[in-house]
Amino acid sequence: MGVWKREITIALLSLPAIAIAGFLSGHLLPLLLAATLIFLFRQIQQISRFEYWIGRGGKGDYPNTKGIWEDIYYHVYRLKKSEKRRKKKLRKLLEQFREFTGALPDAAVILGQDDVIEWANKAALKVLGLQPGDKGQRIPNLIRYPEFVRYLKSRDYRDGIILPSPVNGQITLAVRIVSYGAGLRLLLAQDVTQLKQMERMRKDFVANVSHELRTPLTVLKGYLETLQDMDDGSSPLLAGSLEQMRGQTERMQHLVDDLLMLTRLETQQRRTVCVDVPALLKQICNERGMVENSAGRLELVLASAANLDGDEQELRSAFTNLVGNALKYSSADSVVKVRWFEEGGTVVFEVEDRGIGIAPEDIPRVTERFYRADSLHGRKIPGTGLGLAIVKHVLMRHDGRLNIISELGKGSCFSCHFPPHRKCD
Ligand code: ADP
Repeated sequence: MGVWKREITIALLSLPAIAIAGFLSGHLLPLLLAATLIFLFRQIQQISRFEYWIGRGGKGDYPNTKGIWEDIYYHVYRLKKSEKRRKKKLRKLLEQFREFTGALPDAAVILGQDDVIEWANKAALKVLGLQPGDKGQRIPNLIRYPEFVRYLKSRDYRDGIILPSPVNGQITLAVRIVSYGAGLRLLLAQDVTQLKQMERMRKDFVANVSHELRTPLTVLKGYLETLQDMDDGSSPLLAGSLEQMRGQTERMQHLVDDLLMLTRLETQQRRTVCVDVPALLKQICNERGMVENSAGRLELVLASAANLDGDEQELRSAFTNLVGNALKYSSADSVVKVRWFEEGGTVVFEVEDRGIGIAPEDIPRVTERFYRADSLHGRKIPGTGLGLAIVKHVLMRHDGRLNIISELGKGSCFSCHFPPHRKCD
């Protein structure tokens, strides 16, 4: 602002001087015109010097000048300097980013509009088989696994997928997409071959042990029952021991059965048919009512006639577990309500009890394998801790969702929600 003031003062002081000189010489107009032309010529000269300097990138020091033009040069010079510093910083960051992504063991690919590859790191070339020249190509044309193409199209990237590497079928990849920015997505692929192998070994081990334990347990239980039949009751200690042994054998049998069921859910294909759920529920309630000696406790409401596309054995196992738990974790005289109904297109199986309930901190954990809630401490309620893990797996295989509402000391409500596309006739 100071420079402007000076420029204006000079112009204002020059005007009276020119006017006086004009009056004295009698050439006021020509003098004014000449002064204006000189002023214009000087400005044009400055503009041309400025254009010349900036046209060459504004490199080096700016030309020596005075007044407002010195200020203009100085501001542009400063702007250029800070821009240079910013560029240097950016270049450094970019180099660091390149080094970091180059050292990254996981494949990273940036996808733009239309699933086009914008950029890929070195690992992506190695594990996904992409070539440096694939930039600009659509990724579904290069990685053609139907599951991958489906995942890419789904736009729901909350869960990743597991794929064999397109380069080497022995390598297993966990692929995940993260959306960011305007329509950009980052695809990450991690080599999980070792993890998968360990997982397979664990599954095989559990399956083999459970399978091998089945026969000895059946034999043991058979002998124990024979011994109990033969027992004449002369020794209360023997009778008690035999009863305890039978109880423990039965418990182990349940454990083995549940483990085998989980293995089946993890490894085997579903045998999908149209399951008549209302009939299945009637059957389950009748059976449970008799087995648990709790006839009259189960109240079944079939508000929907919907059938489900699914595996009957798996659905039976899930529903039986939930009904069994409701009976087990509530008092022998309380009612357990079982409902089958529709709610906005989804079909719901619901079991409600007025039992011991679950503490809020236990609710998210009860579907974990072998997890038994703390509220059970001190209560002698038998269980394996595997029932709800089975329920969760079955629902996952039927696109279903488990919802748990529970209050300690008041009761619980477990509901399984199945999407409309699972309904069948
Ligand atoms: P368990 O064989 O112990 O019943 P589950 O996996 O079926 O195993 O259940 C896990 C835990 O969840 C149970 O140990 C219990 O603490 C809790 N639970 C399940 N169902 C109910 C219920 N209806 N009422 C109260 N607690 C329950």
